[in-house]
Amino acid sequence: MRVLIIEDEKRLADALVQIFGKNKMTADASYNGIDGLDNALTGIYDVIVLDIMLPGMNGIEVLGKMRREGIKTPVILLTAKDEISDKVKGLDSGADDYLTKPFSTEELLARVRALGRRTATELICDNSLSFDDLSLDISSYILTCQGNSVKLGLKEFSIMELLIRNANKIITKENLLVKIWGYESDAEYNNVEVYISFLRKKLGYIKSNVSIKTQRGVGYILEVK
Ligand code: CA
Repeated sequence: MRVLIIEDEKRLADALVQIFGKNKMTADASYNGIDGLDNALTGIYDVIVLDIMLPGMNGIEVLGKMRREGIKTPVILLTAKDEISDKVKGLDSGADDYLTKPFSTEELLARVRALGRRTATELICDNSLSFDDLSLDISSYILTCQGNSVKLGLKEFSIMELLIRNANKIITKENLLVKIWGYESDAEYNNVEVYISFLRKKLGYIKSNVSIKTQRGVGYILEVK
């Protein structure tokens, strides 16, 4: 799961990035509304944590612009105490939840997990994601096909999770790179190709009907052979 934190209190934002990381989520931080909106518009995030009082553009404006651009990523608004009218405005402009500062990180993690799950509920059953004959256990990282199973590494798991959640749709290499490795990473398309080849071998090993097809010059698509 990939989370975007838009928060101008740099120490808070950076601490949250660390905390999400420790809880097996990948997080990026933006420190003002304009950068935050740019990142949000990439559509690669599963949940966005959005502060209201921000330099550049406030959280309510960021949210409104995102929604007008068709970005449906669930948003949790962070409000200061006493900003009741902001809460109302936020929910009106398409926020999914809000949290009043100061908040406990456990509370934030729980809310983020709940919203992340909401986007994927139709796929998750018994803690696993499935597509055709494939089932991916999201706590053990084990990929199974009719009694055959194989353990995935963390990167392989993250890529397979993204492919299954977007099965039958093209995922661009750029999207994979940013979503799995992050903006700050030095990883290149080459890295993506290497992991895709590992995953193809594993799909072959468990004799799945599903394959990762290359869309030349664009990216990949997970589909039934
Ligand atoms: Ca602020």
